[in-house]
Amino acid sequence: MATKPPTALIHHPYRPPEGFDSPQPGIFKASSVFFPNVAAMRSREWKDKTAYTYGLHGTPSSYTLEERLCTLEGGLQCVLVPSGLAALALVSLSMLRAGDEVLLPENVYEPNKSLVEAELKHWGITHQFFDPMNLGDLEAKLSDKTRLVWLEAAGSLTLEFPDVPAMVRLCKARDVCTALDNTWGAGIAFNPFDLLPGVTPALGVDISTQALTKYPSGGGDVLMGSVVTRDPALHMRIKLTHMRLGLNVGSNDVELVLRALPSIYLRYRAHDASTRALAAWCQSQPEFTQVLHPALPGSPGHAHWRSLCTADAAACLFSVVLDARFSQAQVDAFVDALRLFRLAYSWAGPISLVVPYDLARSRSRWPTHVAKGTVVRFAVGLEDPQDLQADIEQALAVLRGC
Ligand SMILES: *Cc1c(COP(=O)(O)O)cnc(C)c1O
Repeated sequence: MATKPPTALIHHPYRPPEGFDSPQPGIFKASSVFFPNVAAMRSREWKDKTAYTYGLHGTPSSYTLEERLCTLEGGLQCVLVPSGLAALALVSLSMLRAGDEVLLPENVYEPNKSLVEAELKHWGITHQFFDPMNLGDLEAKLSDKTRLVWLEAAGSLTLEFPDVPAMVRLCKARDVCTALDNTWGAGIAFNPFDLLPGVTPALGVDISTQALTKYPSGGGDVLMGSVVTRDPALHMRIKLTHMRLGLNVGSNDVELVLRALPSIYLRYRAHDASTRALAAWCQSQPEFTQVLHPALPGSPGHAHWRSLCTADAAACLFSVVLDARFSQAQVDAFVDALRLFRLAYSWAGPISLVVPYDLARSRSRWPTHVAKGTVVRFAVGLEDPQDLQADIEQALAVLRGC
């Protein structure tokens, strides 16, 4: 069929030769995906990775990232979503119906709390918070209505490390689904699907989510999340909800995560080493009444961290409690005085970040193992740790002077 130039540009016959191969996979972007004929269109299956039907249901790029994330976390199936928070929401929306109850640890990632309090509640889904450091409290709150239990190790902001295997065992005995927000462990600190290596059958959570925004991206420039499972039926339930909600990730963002994944182990280790050095040094500063980091002896849940994180790994977060004698204005002056630690949310990128938190406002009760005062959370980047220490030192000098 002879065509005019505008048509010829769109229906161009040239195809590059097959077989191009290089360190990074090619990136494919699409809403429309061509079918050769109607029969192929009718018979094509979007639910597994045997074919392509529409950009929303997967491209070679999204399939590739999903498979690599399964390898990272020890899972078998993966769904990608536009943010870490979207991963939490997708799991809850997939698993919960009106009349069900979801349990969350008191130190859960804050937006997961507002999801249950301000959204799920209106859909007839109730929730309760449990003390992650008290197995008896979780046990007492499990009921016939409980359909989902969220876990986090370490917990957000206060970084308590719970007894994950014991909590999972408790939920399994009651046939309740467990979902771990595995952003801290990133699939590196421990295997969420095999919490006690060597023990058979494997003891693991049912669902592991990650904010790929953190370690897997590592650049502070991408928002993405993942939901990884080992059970095909559970995966299909999540995948169907994912499809109905129209969740998608852009291939340019997928490319950034694929590019960063090969260095994730090195980055995790480098962040970890600097974080521990700084956290240990902070313990010697009198203005900080407490330093929270699971690898520090005396930090809440230290023994649980030691037994679960066999590779002796920990993420780049630690929190300090500034003595209660310091006013809000003094704490703010300390945080504002920091130069290398930038005031911003998120973590696991190259730049160190800091955020002061009002724990009294975000928790229904003050955690018994956390000293009274103001919690300031540091996320350690990839700068030289001595420069970071000097930055905290000069900010402490400002605090002493005001
Ligand atoms: C950052 C974070 C999330 C959310 O990730 P976003 O991509 O920012 O939505 C969820 N859980 C934890 C523990 C996080 O640190």
